[in-house]
Amino acid sequence: MRDEDLIILALAVISRDLELVRRIVELANNGVIEEGELQETLKLSVTNLRVMLYQMQDFNLVIQLGAKEDGNGGYLSYWRINKDVAKSFLLRRLKYTKSELMKRKEEDLSGEYYVCAADPSHARLSFDEMIRSMGEGSPTCPVCGAMMEPVNKEEVVKLIDSMIELIDRAIETLEG
Ligand SMILES: [Zn+2]
Repeated sequence: MRDEDLIILALAVISRDLELVRRIVELANNGVIEEGELQETLKLSVTNLRVMLYQMQDFNLVIQLGAKEDGNGGYLSYWRINKDVAKSFLLRRLKYTKSELMKRKEEDLSGEYYVCAADPSHARLSFDEMIRSMGEGSPTCPVCGAMMEPVNKEEVVKLIDSMIELIDRAIETLEG
């Protein structure tokens, strides 16, 4: 993978907007971006852009370079996109997600869990939580009101395994 793709991916993990970060990286001049210019070109609010840049800075993916006067009483504020840490950031994220998935698989295999029958992503209750909420009538999904049903362990394990496989392949590509 090209360095540019890696940093786009890494920034997209933070902003959750691949198209937006692609444009930001394109607009950068030798890796340097100016806040006001970004804001104007991309039609972003000052606050949203600031929040996003600070979130990226938390992971060292961008570095604030400081500001200088623009000659009209305003300030130009510069940031550098830090390509160097993109790969290690992505690897850390992937490895973390993998360990979370493995924990989840362990949990699903060892306990009794219940999920929304209409959409399992709505809610997930442990056996104890199911018993507790039965006091308030038969437990239903807090999102859509559908019935809760036991997790199909085989299906969940198959799904998690396939996700882990995908992550392993991505890690291999990045490390390779
Ligand atoms: Zn539901």
